[in-house]
Amino acid sequence: MLLVPCPNCGPRNSADLTYRGEASARPNPATTTPKEWRDYLYSEDNPAGWLKETWYCSSGCRRFFAVERHTVTSEFREPPLPGSKTPKPLGDVGGRAVVGDASELEGEQ
Ligand SMILES: [Zn+2]
Repeated sequence: MLLVPCPNCGPRNSADLTYRGEASARPNPATTTPKEWRDYLYSEDNPAGWLKETWYCSSGCRRFFAVERHTVTSEFREPPLPGSKTPKPLGDVGGRAVVGDASELEGEQ
């Protein structure tokens, strides 16, 4: 069982959520090449280390959120707070986190 820290609901069983893949910045459709679109749609980095992922809380708050997970140890970092770009390790914030908005799923721009 994998406990995923939903920013609204707190830690939830991964069976209550839907994994939506790596979180990456969407390229500008007006300026991107077909190869960049293909890479954005179908390629993933799949690192052995920290990875920013997108999850959907399908059985709880029904919101998308991004969280960092270590792909080797399955350790999670606290989802970033609204307006913050740096996630904190779990346990440093205390209590339940505040939900971020959808713009945080787009990555740093
Ligand atoms: Zn939730």
